[in-house]
Amino acid sequence: MKIAIMNCMNTSRSCVAAACFRAYAAGTNAFAAYGEDDRAQLAGFFPCGGCDMVIESDEGFAKKLDKLKTEGVQRVHISKCASGCKRVQDFVKAYEGKGIEVVLGTH
Ligand code: SF4
Repeated sequence: MKIAIMNCMNTSRSCVAAACFRAYAAGTNAFAAYGEDDRAQLAGFFPCGGCDMVIESDEGFAKKLDKLKTEGVQRVHISKCASGCKRVQDFVKAYEGKGIEVVLGTH
């Protein structure tokens, strides 16, 4: 299964996503659900777009959704740093509206 990770743009200013990649590589935490029969292929990693971004109408975010679909990404993990965001359910709605599953969390 192709997956992608969205992180918090505020956090990404000072984060190299090492814990997300470590958990992905080790198959731990939120990635423990994947097994040999359902391997997770990380196909994208990107920041949310920022607190000022209007999820429903932002051109850049819409392009990200389209690109995820084009790349065959079936599931987006919303990283630990973003899963506590007050707008997280708006992001979930946007992904699910495109037929992309969402998992809250990475490491
Ligand atoms: S919208 Fe949420 S996830 Fe994105 S930068 Fe702001 S706080 Fe972080």
